[in-house]
Amino acid sequence: MAAKTARLRPRKRFGQHFLADPLALRRIVAALGPADGPPVVEIGPGQGALTAPLLQTFGRLLAIEIDRDLAAHLRHRFSAASLTVVEADVLGVPLESLAAGPVRLVGNLPYNVSKPVADKIVRERTRVAGAVLMFQREVAERLTAEPGTRAFGPLTVLVGEAFSVERLFDLGPRAFRPAPQVSSTVTRWTPRPEAFSSVSEDALRAALRAGFTHRRRTLRNNVPPDLLELAGIDGSLRAEALPPADWRRLAMVWPR
Ligand code: SAM
Repeated sequence: MAAKTARLRPRKRFGQHFLADPLALRRIVAALGPADGPPVVEIGPGQGALTAPLLQTFGRLLAIEIDRDLAAHLRHRFSAASLTVVEADVLGVPLESLAAGPVRLVGNLPYNVSKPVADKIVRERTRVAGAVLMFQREVAERLTAEPGTRAFGPLTVLVGEAFSVERLFDLGPRAFRPAPQVSSTVTRWTPRPEAFSSVSEDALRAALRAGFTHRRRTLRNNVPPDLLELAGIDGSLRAEALPPADWRRLAMVWPR
């Protein structure tokens, strides 16, 4: 028994901070919407703090966990008829391999992979019916930042093209065991029907990469002036001042 407990000690390298706030758990489950919608996939179930109330509401669940010991613990704790545990790095699991159609994603994300997970969700957006995801507060601020603020960046524009992201509520370190150094924010992602309808994803990524190369410099230092002119964008601005519609225009004239 002692050995089993020792094996489940939180592992720092996997960003393991387990949610221990019953009200927050209920709010996350409720934010996912009706019990009979698209299948639910939990990212990083850990010891199952969120898995248990998710199963109560949705009956069935898929969960992707990288930690072998936690995956074994979950298989032992929950019935295989209701919980399918995929023992893997979420970044290597194509969402299309999980279900026939789009899924709802939920998770208290490990902070070290939150940006790559956000990026993956954009790339695989046609497989995402919605998501309720917890991020480090600063990342959630970036996801929902207004142009002209320091938090506004490539992630804001890219994710914002594909999804409407709302910040639902914040949680302090004491909501977790062990307590992290940072605060967290639960976000809800709703697919935008018009996502990438007027602009290609590759072009938008390329324009953002170039535009934000030297954040402190003005756009004309980062982007060829003829492209700025074609898009009707003032090169004396900094990248963070450009609203999403201008990034879209720049991407439209971006060379292929
Ligand atoms: N959902 C649980 C909770 O709220 O108590 C655990 C959250 S903990 C912040 C993050 C979980 O994600 C851990 O269980 C960790 O092992 C797992 N994890 C970390 N990196 C992962 C990855 N790349 N793919 C899948 N799971 C990962």
